[in-house]
Amino acid sequence: MNNAISRRRFLEQLGLAVAVAQAPGWARGADAPPAKQLGVALVGLGNYSTRQLGPALRETKFCKLAGVVTGSREKGEQWARDYGFSPKSIYSYDTIARMADDPAIDIAYVVTPNGLHAEHAIAVAKAGKHVIMEKPMCNTVAECDAVLAACKAAKVRHSIGYRLFWDPYHAELRRLAREQEFGAFKQMKGDRGFVMSTWRWRADKKLAGGGPLMDLGIYLIQGACMAKNGAAPAFVTARELPKTWPDISRDTEETLQWTMEWPDGASAEFTTSYQQNFDHFRAEAPKGWVDFKEHAFGYKVGAVETSRGPLQYPAPNQQALQMDDFAQCVETGRATPVPGEMGRRDLAIIEAIYRAAASGRREAVKTT
Ligand code: NAD
Repeated sequence: MNNAISRRRFLEQLGLAVAVAQAPGWARGADAPPAKQLGVALVGLGNYSTRQLGPALRETKFCKLAGVVTGSREKGEQWARDYGFSPKSIYSYDTIARMADDPAIDIAYVVTPNGLHAEHAIAVAKAGKHVIMEKPMCNTVAECDAVLAACKAAKVRHSIGYRLFWDPYHAELRRLAREQEFGAFKQMKGDRGFVMSTWRWRADKKLAGGGPLMDLGIYLIQGACMAKNGAAPAFVTARELPKTWPDISRDTEETLQWTMEWPDGASAEFTTSYQQNFDHFRAEAPKGWVDFKEHAFGYKVGAVETSRGPLQYPAPNQQALQMDDFAQCVETGRATPVPGEMGRRDLAIIEAIYRAAASGRREAVKTT
């Protein structure tokens, strides 16, 4: 590993360690548990909750699983036994309002299909609980606005499950964008897709909001905005490719190619698909480049090279760090790096991309 990069990374990690040591209830030694762990309720017990978020909540230090919202009481009871929380904290989608009287729950994490995120997040906010929402935040910008208004009215915090903010390779991408060691990133390209062999809600317009752009393309949008130091593109163009499996992608795109342009002349070319397996991202600047050669946006990112040489970092549990960070934001009042406004920005970009695919024209991105 290049010395300059490894030294900086070490210092960054040291910074993180200092932040952890200074956090409330965590100053009593590296292995001592904090005085209080906030209670998290998972809303929706599908794949992501079962395989990633539940297990991650066994590793978190500042929060723990304290309840669930599920359509199946039996499933909820199994989760209560497995994770050791009270069956009193099992809710159905119709009883989220009752969480208001549950002191065990501080945060509810919405992990249902995209088209239900707004309804569930608003119910959580009205119950007075802080909200984490999975990506994409909602189906539309209008829904994002309704969630942000509900959180403001209820005086609760919100964040989006953009777990890659806690991946060290993506942190390095953001650092390079911020400090411009290679100059400003000017060209980006990438792709993200998987093969969907049977119909799922992810290809349903109402439940998913769209096709792979909503589910997978959003990662490329995130990567590009990281490389542009948080700036949204000003213009987009887009083109839907012919469907190879129209029975699966019935009313949503199967494969979409799009471009994004920034006011400083930077541009990006991306592809997302439900009929191809790929996961790459590359950003080039005048004095160097970063290339995520495989699993660019996965749970374990790896094979990242730069013009200075390969990067090699330990693989953290992204979701555990993400949830712990939000719990600390709630406790300390600090701002989250992944607020609802960022989720809304990404929906504004997605809406512009869909407009461009429909019109065949270059469309402006309206983020405000
Ligand atoms: P899933 O289909 O496995 O689970 C969805 C859950 O929602 C199920 O428990 C289902 O019972 C429940 N549900 C409630 N009402 C429903 C309805 N009307 N129709 C269908 N299901 C309903 O999906 P998943 O993979 O867990 O994805 C859930 C969310 O998490 C999505 O928004 C997805 O984009 C997001 N996700 C994020 C990541 C990530 O890396 N951040 C990874 C996977 C999924």
